[in-house]
Amino acid sequence: MTPDLPPSALRLDVDRQALAANWRALDALSGTARTGAAVKADAYGIGAKVAVPVLRDAGCHDFFVTYAHEAADILGLVPPHEISLLHGPINEGVAKWAHETGVRVVINSLEQAARWLAAGGGRCDLMVDTGINRLGLPLANLGDPMIARLEVDVLLSHLASADEDVALNPRQCARWEEARRVVPHLRASLANSAGIALGDAYHGDLTRPGLSLYGGVPRRELEGRIAQVARPMAAVMQVRNIEAGEGVGYNATFIAPHAMRIGVVALGYADGFLRCWSAGKGVLLRQGRRLPVLGRVSMDMVDVDLSGADEVREGDWLEVEYSLPQAAAFSGLSQYELLTLLGDRFAR
Ligand SMILES: *Cc1c(COP(=O)(O)O)cnc(C)c1O
Repeated sequence: MTPDLPPSALRLDVDRQALAANWRALDALSGTARTGAAVKADAYGIGAKVAVPVLRDAGCHDFFVTYAHEAADILGLVPPHEISLLHGPINEGVAKWAHETGVRVVINSLEQAARWLAAGGGRCDLMVDTGINRLGLPLANLGDPMIARLEVDVLLSHLASADEDVALNPRQCARWEEARRVVPHLRASLANSAGIALGDAYHGDLTRPGLSLYGGVPRRELEGRIAQVARPMAAVMQVRNIEAGEGVGYNATFIAPHAMRIGVVALGYADGFLRCWSAGKGVLLRQGRRLPVLGRVSMDMVDVDLSGADEVREGDWLEVEYSLPQAAAFSGLSQYELLTLLGDRFAR
């Protein structure tokens, strides 16, 4: 038998209360519509096995993932009919697997409809494209006899620009309304996180937030209502004292202006802490004090300035400053990327 693995130098702290509170806040903003959850990509990197039970206990009954293996990860946690595969039956294997497990599929094209019916059919969701031109049935295909044979639970569409105030939003909403009139269905759903803030007309019977559950703020209306959920933590591996004039990290992009105490931290671009955080952009936190990144981020480590944090020792944990709206502004990465980048070396 292999001995148990020793603890890692990286962990992702997930604030479960904040996650539940974010779901409740979005549910309140969704009015009379029920509120589901997008938990694809391992719940945006939070860890689906951590997030799904919290969301379930908060009252969520609709979980959207992309692939069958993501559904399999959470099958023991929620009933199969509460999970829906956004990419749908991309091949016969997926159609058969969903049919056997009872996981819902989103039908995105006539080809997928045919595949689903050939596998035995049954209750499914249907995605109609109202203007984003990604996966989804074109409106022109709504009258196809194949579509009439589907038993549609959720009739979905997806907004392209819900984080902006543009004419495409009401246009997509009107096209989705048109689809609702043509295709018999049990529930209709249009809004992602940002879409929830667009108001009642966008809510239908079910909303599908992802980003804002995990602390993302895509629109001003959500400011102050959404709390940070993910806190990346990394351990100090070495403390060094360097002299004035010494360089730090690859290519010595930082030169110490005076003698300094620096910390080498177990966090690098292989963990999703990309090089855009180099040279003073990134900040680590120790009990509220801000420790700026020095020099370049390496693959597995980064140096930080320990001036004013004299008590920090090898093995101490530092928090990465990672409030999503701010971190996006500093790094140039999107709030979505900031979450889904966090690698699997973080213990979750
Ligand atoms: C990812 C996704 C969502 C969630 O979107 P957010 O912008 O993260 O709230 C909702 N619906 C579909 C179809 C998605 O792919």
